[in-house]
Amino acid sequence: MTMAWEPDEEISSLIRHLALQNSLQYDGKGQAGSVISRIMGSREDLRKFGKDIAPIVAREVSSANQLANSNGLDFIREILEDEAPHMLEKKEHKRREGLPELPNLGNKKPILRFAPNPNGPLSFGHSRGLVINGEYAKELGGELILRFDDTDTTVKPPMLEAYESISKQQAELCGFPAHRIVIASERMDVYHEYARKAIETNFAYVCKCSGDEFREFRLSKTNCPCRGNDLSENISLWEAMNDENGLNPGDAVLRMKTGMDQKNPALRDWPAARIQVNPHPRVGNKWRVWPLLDFQSAIEDHLQGVTHIIRGKDLMYSTRKQKLLYEHFGWQYPETIYWGRVKVHEFGSFSTSQMKQDIADGIFEGWSDPRLPTLSALFRRGIRPESLRSFWIELGLTQKDIAVPLSTLYSHNTKCIEPEAPRLAFVRDPVSVNLQGEYPSLLEISAHPETEMPPRTFRIDDEVLIEKEDSGKPIRLKDFCDINENGLVQSINKTDDRPIVHWIPSGIATTLTIADGKDIIEIEGMLEEHDYEIGTIVQLERVGYAVVEKSGLLMVHD
Ligand SMILES: [Zn+2]
Repeated sequence: MTMAWEPDEEISSLIRHLALQNSLQYDGKGQAGSVISRIMGSREDLRKFGKDIAPIVAREVSSANQLANSNGLDFIREILEDEAPHMLEKKEHKRREGLPELPNLGNKKPILRFAPNPNGPLSFGHSRGLVINGEYAKELGGELILRFDDTDTTVKPPMLEAYESISKQQAELCGFPAHRIVIASERMDVYHEYARKAIETNFAYVCKCSGDEFREFRLSKTNCPCRGNDLSENISLWEAMNDENGLNPGDAVLRMKTGMDQKNPALRDWPAARIQVNPHPRVGNKWRVWPLLDFQSAIEDHLQGVTHIIRGKDLMYSTRKQKLLYEHFGWQYPETIYWGRVKVHEFGSFSTSQMKQDIADGIFEGWSDPRLPTLSALFRRGIRPESLRSFWIELGLTQKDIAVPLSTLYSHNTKCIEPEAPRLAFVRDPVSVNLQGEYPSLLEISAHPETEMPPRTFRIDDEVLIEKEDSGKPIRLKDFCDINENGLVQSINKTDDRPIVHWIPSGIATTLTIADGKDIIEIEGMLEEHDYEIGTIVQLERVGYAVVEKSGLLMVHD
């Protein structure tokens, strides 16, 4: 004889809580079936007691539903908050649509930053940082700082036009202008002040070793001779760095005294400032000693009160370098969240400097050439800011490296543009068909099946244009009539399942341009007459979405 199985206390309360959670989730109409599958899904060991568990679950679900209906959903929420808060958190999580909670935010408003180098215009990759930081700032009532990290005049010199285009695109992409704009090259006095403070508090020294020499010291964890400079030596060397008659680029750098015994070699007395003499496009030759990114960014994050930094996991070392500086100054480092790389195969091989070169060489027509992954090219090609937003939010903040096909972005975009895109007919490789028989000479054809756009008016003479591959067989002219292979109108109503083809009574010779990887494909055809403005996205029947441009049509995607 076998004893009936009885749940122990832990299992009983699991069932009870799942029942409450389910009832809460479905507004007091929890389902025993879904609770059972949740239990069996998470507790394989209970599967063999399925028969015994089912009635217990049914009882708990029905009492949870009763409780929800008599005392309200908030009552259920309170019980769970008390007894099993983790079950509530999961639900809150779902509501946030892909973005996790910001850690340790407490009651503060978050201050986030997006800090591009204006050495070129923004690209697809930048849109992630803008979207994610912007979304948190907006959703949580915080602030977004747009910071131009433009202190490298040698390797990645700033491009003057980029400041304006980046600010504009930030607003377009986030849906609001940044709350603060910070331009590092205009705050050089601040970085100099902190460099000086670091020297005076014995946390920095001027190092005159060559790169190769210092590499040796770093690898052997040995102090370089400059590390022992006393304060007055460091001050006078610092002044020599800043003096045009003093030291020259490459003669010396300022190093943070983080310790030559750090486990990670990158952290050992890292460089914070160096001499650059190329003129800066905004401030010319006003400064001679320029901060390196880790130093400049660390100081600025603190001064601007940044609460959360979201950055690539490849920048974990930066965080650790900067934390040593924060420790020295007694500051609290912002919460840091890392994400993995997202690779979109089609955008794989572009770098800003390569694009710059290719544009100069005439390979691309400019930064908004539709083959490039710049934001200006994507916007020109009809990719909407909202689509980039939902694309990045859906991918979330995983630390895993992921590869995503461009078609994923396109499907987000289709959702945005489909409701607004009027239908137009574009007949490729057109041939004319002489109509015979009886047919109306004026037709109104819907411009969009679901919205109330004014219909298109077709005036039909005695011929129409169809694509060559549709000719020579019985077809149905879409929304018009059935014809045989010779153009004889057989019926106005649809009579059978012959192919339905798009057609136009007359049209404008038009080129459809398609960006295909690094190639441009041009398709000639006849486009239905229309008066849509430049920039309108239309849906070409049987082709896909395209933008009306001055010179013709530019393909968005299918
Ligand atoms: Zn040295």
